[in-house]
Amino acid sequence: MKTAELKEAILKAKEETGTLVLAHTYQAPDIIDIADITGDSFALAKAATNIPDKKRVLLCGVRFMADTVKILSPEKEVVLSHKSATCPMAEQIAPERVRAFREENPDVCVCAYINTSTELKAECDVCVTSSTAVKIVSALPSEKVLFIPDQNLGGYVSRFVPEKEIILWDGCCPTHHSVSVKDVLEAKAKHPGAKIAVHPECRKEVVALCDFIGSTSEIINYCKSVEDDVIIATERGVCDKLSRDYPERGFYQLAPNKLTCPNMKMTTLQNVYDALLGNFGDVIEIDEELRLKAKRSIDNMLKYGG
Ligand code: SF4
Repeated sequence: MKTAELKEAILKAKEETGTLVLAHTYQAPDIIDIADITGDSFALAKAATNIPDKKRVLLCGVRFMADTVKILSPEKEVVLSHKSATCPMAEQIAPERVRAFREENPDVCVCAYINTSTELKAECDVCVTSSTAVKIVSALPSEKVLFIPDQNLGGYVSRFVPEKEIILWDGCCPTHHSVSVKDVLEAKAKHPGAKIAVHPECRKEVVALCDFIGSTSEIINYCKSVEDDVIIATERGVCDKLSRDYPERGFYQLAPNKLTCPNMKMTTLQNVYDALLGNFGDVIEIDEELRLKAKRSIDNMLKYGG
C-alpha cells in the first residue's frame, strides 16, 4: 500500500478495533500523523491515567513507555508497536544493585528517571521525567537522593537543588550523550545568530554552550516563544515536528546522524497497521505484585510533578 492508503487503512482499523494510539514526539512524522495523542514521556504517562472509552492502547515508542501505560491502566490491552523497540538507558542498572544500595543507605531517597524498566521502578521511591525532575527532587522530603540512571539529567537537576546531596549513577542516553562540543561549535558556525535549545540528557559541557535547556515539550514551547532561528539539540523528531508545524521558521537539527534514536525510529506505518490487526507488536503483561510496586513510584511522580 502507498503511504496515503496505509494511513487511511490505519484510521479505519483504529475505529474498528477500538484502539487509542499514543505516540512519543520522537516517532517518525508519519507515525505522528496517525496518532490520537502525541507528546513527551510525561504527557503520555498522564494520558495513560485517563484513557477514554477504548479497550486497547497501541504505544508507538519504546518499551518502558508501554509498560508505564500498562502499570497505570491494567484493565486495558496495551500493545508496544515494535517488540524490539527498547530504550538502552532503561536497563543500565540491575534492580539488585539498587536494592543493595537501599539496604546500605536507608536514609537516601531513590529517584528514577522514567526511562527505566518496570523492575527498576519497583525498587525506587519516585520517578521523574526531564520536564518534572527539578520540581520533584526539590519537593522530596529526603536530604539525600540517589538519581538513576542518567548522570547528565541528574547532574543538571543538582544545579537547581544545591541544598540536597544528589548521588549520580553513571548511566546515560547513548543518543544524547554522543553529542560533542565540536558538534555544537560547527552548528553555531554554520547558523550564526541562531539560538541553541538542548535536552539535559546531553553532556554538561554541551549544555553549557546552549541558550535554552529543557525537555522535549519545553524545547517546543521555547521555540514557539522566540522569533530567532533555533538549532535543536535533541532527538530529531522534535526538529521534524517544529519544521512541519512552522515551515516559515528556521529550525536546524544538530548532529542529525547522532541525534536519531534507532529504537524510537524502529516502528513503521506498516508495523502500526499490523499491530492494530493483532499481527505485530508486543502485548504488555506485568505481574500484579510487580505492577503495584512500580506504580507507587509513578503515582509519586504524578503527585509531586503535578
Ligand atoms: S533517545 Fe535516548 S532516552 Fe530516548 S529512547 Fe532513545 S536511547 Fe532512550
